[in-house]
Parts: sequence; structure tokens; C-alpha cells
Amino acid sequence: MQTTIKIAIQKSGRLSDVSKSLLKECGIKIKNGKNQLIAPAVNYPANILYLRDDDIPQYVADGVADVGILGQNVVDETQAKILVAKKLGFSRCRLSLAIPKSENYTGLSFFQNKRIATSYPKILEKYLQKNGIQAELHKISGSVEIAPNIGLADGVCDIVSSGSTLFSNGLKEVEKVMDSEAVLVTNPNLNPKKQTIVDQLLFRIESVQTAQEFRYILLNAPNDKVQKITSILPGMKSPTIVPLVEEGWSSLHSVIRETDFWEIIDQLKTAGAEGILVMPVEKMIL
Ligand code: ATP
Ligand code: ZN
Repeated sequence: MQTTIKIAIQKSGRLSDVSKSLLKECGIKIKNGKNQLIAPAVNYPANILYLRDDDIPQYVADGVADVGILGQNVVDETQAKILVAKKLGFSRCRLSLAIPKSENYTGLSFFQNKRIATSYPKILEKYLQKNGIQAELHKISGSVEIAPNIGLADGVCDIVSSGSTLFSNGLKEVEKVMDSEAVLVTNPNLNPKKQTIVDQLLFRIESVQTAQEFRYILLNAPNDKVQKITSILPGMKSPTIVPLVEEGWSSLHSVIRETDFWEIIDQLKTAGAEGILVMPVEKMIL
């Protein structure tokens, strides 16, 4: 029988669409089935398990799922025996302490002997302990930000990205406890056949991630400017140079880092580049 792996992703929430998109970019199509708990991949030896994100660590630790996609914040909070095999770079957020806007924040000692509402008591406990703060933690699983308004707590420790949810609840962010992003986790004891499939998946994710950092660039230039332009292009290797039908002109093709592009665009124009086209790269194998 062919070996397959089970990949656990969030059923519905902030991570579900991005997780499905990542799998799709890796060439893994999921057979649609609304409200299913498990769906097979069409062209890949995998089944997709749809779960609450909080349940993913335990399922992966127990080997019910082999791989999971979830936030580092949930990995740290559950402390399950799983391996973080890859940071995925999306769903970036931070876990922060916040207090009512009207309070005067005097530093971490503000929280001494205070009540803090959070869905992340383990991470917070460790953080406060490290900083010598004793506080009363109240575990709440949703809508933590309303706790101070209803008199349940003096502050909160919650996920923040823009801070607008905190702000609209009359709170201000005062300390960052941790940075988080989506990660791919694996069971630490995969059998060799499953490990091979997981390694292949990791390789595909790397190709997608690398491609996202690069752009394919094409430009035209008079032949006497080609050398100068080539020296500006920070390509992986030397650019491809193709003659144009128009006498004395060439087309240069290269791959550059997206972050380099805006720095060199003016130099390229000054050096005589024309008709500059920049395109996304879908996959890239280095
Ligand atoms: P579930 O019903 O599966 O338990 P949930 O309500 O716990 O879902 P979501 O709000 O969907 O979780 O968030 C899932 C993950 O997305 C979080 O654990 C965190 O890693 C990340 N996340 C949460 N809020 C944000 C945000 N504002 N910006 C970016 N990422 C976020
Ligand atoms: Zn959750």
C-alpha cells in the first residue's frame, strides 16, 4: 500500500485560507468537501485534516496527524512534543500585554499583583516569572480584549497585529511578550517513508518561499550600454543577453531579489535601460 501523510490545518479561521494556498502552491490539490473532517489530496500522497488550531499540536504529537500548520504562539502554549520544521513567514503577529488607555504605564512592575486575562497562560506565566512579576492569570478562550471593560482583569495578554482591536476596546499595547508567525510542525518520530514525503513537501515549500523573494527582470538596451547595465544587475549568475531585431540593441534577462529592485531601478534607467519588465517567479530551485 502506498504511504500517505496526514496534514492538519485550521478548519476555519485566519490560517485556513493561507494554509490551503500554500499547499496549492506546492502542487497539492485538495478534493473539495464542505464540512468534512478529512479530505484526500488529488495528486499527492496526503490527506488533509481540518481541525481547531489549538488541537493541532496534540494530534501531531500523538501521530494522528504527521504534519501541521499553525501559529508559533499555539505551539509554544501547548508545549506538545512536536518539531517546528519550517517557519512559513505568513500570519505574522505578536503576543502583547495591554492595559486600559487611561492607565499610566510605569513598566512591567505595573502588573505586579494584577489580574491579567489571556488565552496564553503558559507563555505569559513563563514571561512574568523570567521578569520577576507575580500576577493572577485568568484563562479566557475568546474575546480577551473585553475583560478589563467588564471588570474581570486589569490588563490582557493577547495576539496583536495592527493594534486596532485593542484600541477600539479602550486598551493600549505596553509590552511585547513574543513574535509569532505560521510554522510547519511535524511529529518527531515519523517512519522513514513518511519522512521522505515530508522532506519532499519541505523542499516544495522552500521553492515557493525562495521564488517569492525574487523577480524576473527583462529590459532592452543599446549594445554599447549592455556591459554597464550587466554590472548593475545583481543577478544570481550573469544575465542572458538576446539580440533584438532592431540593429544595435539587446534584451537582458535576469533574476533579482525583490528588495534590490527599487535600489537599482534608477541606476538601470540612467545607464540606458528601456522597456523594463518585472515579473513574479512562481517556483525557484537554487
Ligand atoms: P480556532 O477556532 O481554530 O481555535 P482561533 O480563534 O483560535 O481559531 P484565529 O483567530 O483564527 O484562531 O487565529 C489563528 C492564528 O492566526 C493565531 O493563533 C495566530 O497565530 C494568528 N493570528 C491571530 N490573529 C492574527 C492577526 N491579527 N494577524 C495575523 N495573525 C494572527
Ligand atoms: Zn484556537
